[in-house]
This record gives sequence, C-alpha cells and structure tokens, in this order.
Amino acid sequence: MKLYSTNNPSLRVSFQEAVFNSMPQDKGLYMPEVIPQLEKEFIDQLEQYSLPEIAYQIASTLLKDEIPEADLKALIDDAVNFEAPVVKLNEQTFVLELFHGPSLAFKDFGARFMSRVMAYFLKDGEQLLDVLVATSGDTGGAVALGFLGVPNTRVTILFPKGKVSEVQRLQLTTNGKNIRAIAVDGTFDDCQALVKQAFADDELNGKFRLTSANSINIARLIPQTFYYFNAYAQLKRQGLEKVVFAVPSGNFGNIGAGLLAYKMGLPVHRFIAATNANDTVPRFLETGIYEAKPSVQTYANAMDVGAPSNWVRIMDLFNQDRDTINQLVKAYHFTDEETLAAIKEIFERFNYVACPHTAIAWLATKAYATENPTDDSVKVFLSTAHACKFPEVFPPEIKEKIELPEQVKSLNNNLEVYDELGKDFESFKSYLFDK
Ligand SMILES: *Cc1c(COP(=O)(O)O)cnc(C)c1O
Repeated sequence: MKLYSTNNPSLRVSFQEAVFNSMPQDKGLYMPEVIPQLEKEFIDQLEQYSLPEIAYQIASTLLKDEIPEADLKALIDDAVNFEAPVVKLNEQTFVLELFHGPSLAFKDFGARFMSRVMAYFLKDGEQLLDVLVATSGDTGGAVALGFLGVPNTRVTILFPKGKVSEVQRLQLTTNGKNIRAIAVDGTFDDCQALVKQAFADDELNGKFRLTSANSINIARLIPQTFYYFNAYAQLKRQGLEKVVFAVPSGNFGNIGAGLLAYKMGLPVHRFIAATNANDTVPRFLETGIYEAKPSVQTYANAMDVGAPSNWVRIMDLFNQDRDTINQLVKAYHFTDEETLAAIKEIFERFNYVACPHTAIAWLATKAYATENPTDDSVKVFLSTAHACKFPEVFPPEIKEKIELPEQVKSLNNNLEVYDELGKDFESFKSYLFDK
C-alpha cells in the first residue's frame, strides 16, 4: 500500500514512512493510493469469522506487501485480543461495545495496533522511539497501555493537572516501565502546544527520535475498520443485514474508519455522525459552509473538538462531494442537557449505563428514526468508552450501578508516579534532556 497526501495527490510514501511521520510535511493527511475491495465471498460469509480473523483479512488486504503473512497474523493476534460485542437493547436497537480493551475505550484498537506496527518496523539496534502524546483523558491511556512493555519505545504523556478523571489519571500514572506521565499546570491545549513545540525544536529532534501517536496516524485508522465488519458479522448471525451505525464523533477518526470499511465493501445502509455542542461537521453537512471553531467544554469531553482533524480524510474519500456524503451520512448534535437526559432514559428503558459519548450516539439514532420512520434497518450505536471513566457526569442512583471492570480494580493497587511541570516550553525541554 502506497499513500499520498490529501494536500499533494502526486506524493507517494510507503506505509512504514506514513506510520512514523504521522502527518506529511505539507500538513495534509495520508490516504491509501487505492482502496482495495475485500473479496465478495469473504463479505458474503462474514458471519463465519471471528474478530481476529476478520482483522487479519482486512489488514492483509491492505498491508500484504509491507508485512509478511505470518508476522501480520501474530501482530493482529497480539493487538486485537479483546472482544467488541454487539449487545441487543430491543428489536431495532443494538449497542456496539468498544470498551473492553485495556484502557476501556475504543482508542485501544488504534493504539495497540499502531504500537505493534511501529515496534515491528523498528529494527534491532535502532535508536529508541520516543512517543510524545498530549491527552485530555482517553488518548493517553490507550497509548500508554498500547505501548506498555513494547521494546525500543518510550512514551511521555502530558495531561492537564486536575482535569482528567481518577480512572483516566491512574491509567496514565501507574504503568512504570517505558511509560512516564507529566501533569502540566494548564489545560489540554497547553499540553498539546508543548508537544507541538517539541516536534518543531531542532535540538530535541537532533537528540531524540520523536514521533506522535495522535489520531491522524494511518495505523490508528486501519484497525478501527475491524470492528465495523465484526459488528456486521454478529448481526448477520441473527439474520439482520440492513444496518445503520451511529458514531459519537470528535476528531472523526472513528466514523472515518467506518466510511473506509464501507468503501472496502462493507454493506452499511447509513452512518450517523453524532456530536456534542462542537458541531462543525453537522453544520457543514447542512449548510455547505465549513467553519472550524474553538472547542467548547461538554460532558462528552473526548469529543470537544472544534476543528476535527480527520474530516479532510472523509472529504477525500468522497472526492470533496458533500452531496454524496449527505446521502450516506446523517449528522446530529446535542447539548449537555440532552445528553444527561439521554443517560437517564437509556438507564430507565434498557437498564443500561451509557457513558456521555455513547448517550449522544443513542440520541442520534432516535433523531434519525424519527426523521426516517419507514427505514426498517437496525440501529447500532457505538459505545466508545466505559461509563466508569466519566463518573462525575452521572446522577448518584445511576453512578452506583456502574460495574467496575477488572482493568480498573487492579489500577488501585498500583503505585502512582508522575512528574509535574508548568506550561512553559523551556521546562519541558529541560525535562526531556535531563530525565
Ligand atoms: C476519542 C473519543 C471519541 C471521539 O472519537 P473520534 O475518532 O475522535 O471521532 C468519542 N468517544 C470517546 C469515549 C473517545 O475517547
């Protein structure tokens, strides 16, 4: 697979180069030169395959020229070692649970696969790979746990002090080994600015082999296609084949992967993009005017993105044609009040605790069903994180019903270690040099 830049269609780089660069010099996004179709027999018989088998089939269709079969198979089995079940709530409504990985969020799919791909391409004796990542909560945990113990790599995570939940903080600070965490006295934007400055700093780049782990990396996008195919397989086993996926969206990487799956041959009836008050994409799809805005804070804070970085990719997938996108993708946005009411309604109707991001996706399925009363497809909303990561949002009577998964129980036994820094670049730079 060769990749071009959305800013320069004549550029060609290898998959390996795209993975280590994350972003082309011209600040576009890498896209596959051709999007290969999965074999029709495979799609027709999807119900016969397990998640790792599906993952391998997709990955090998894309990457067979870059990673030999046996290595790719081992890589997939190591990366995709948890379930993504589709849970039935009623005849028309299902929830795709993507939170059964180590950090309890869907980002585990991307982070685990990417870390293993990077480790695979690092040759013995090569310089240590230094991954710098700024997090508002979820990305850091997935990246930390994805890279934990991966040879020849070191991860430095910057998180805004006091602004992540307890579970999120413990996921960042209790790992040890090749993972270190820094609490920055500032906001997520300050953390991100520090990482950006580090990437632009000649002295740091002269000494370290720096790489980012952000959601635009092509190696995070690819594994997110796996669970769409796998969800479809599970529904097909129940005789259901007309499917709408509702995706809680921030940077639009998750839904971007769904649309890539569609382009590779997955028969999806429609996608629903669900956002919080950060509604840049819903507004664009409605009006044709793309107007990025500073992000506003909401209960669904992993979706507080005013300028979704993966949107360019989706436009590229559909040749910049908003009308084509509008035929396939419906978009809705919701307020915090609506989100909280939805959490309560989902609990009352289905005895199910949904995290705020998940609740927004459910709201979008409801809005879609109201607007399309004759559409008899099943609605699958994606649950992107476990509710226990966002405890402050829930009313007490629902909060007490949240069952703590094993991944969280064990966190409390671990020693927390992190450094604290101000938001000035010089302190961060000295830290990197001295530690
Ligand atoms: C990152 C995240 C999202 C948004 O996903 P995108 O790929 O950025 O659209 C939604 N929900 C949760 C819980 C997340 O962590």
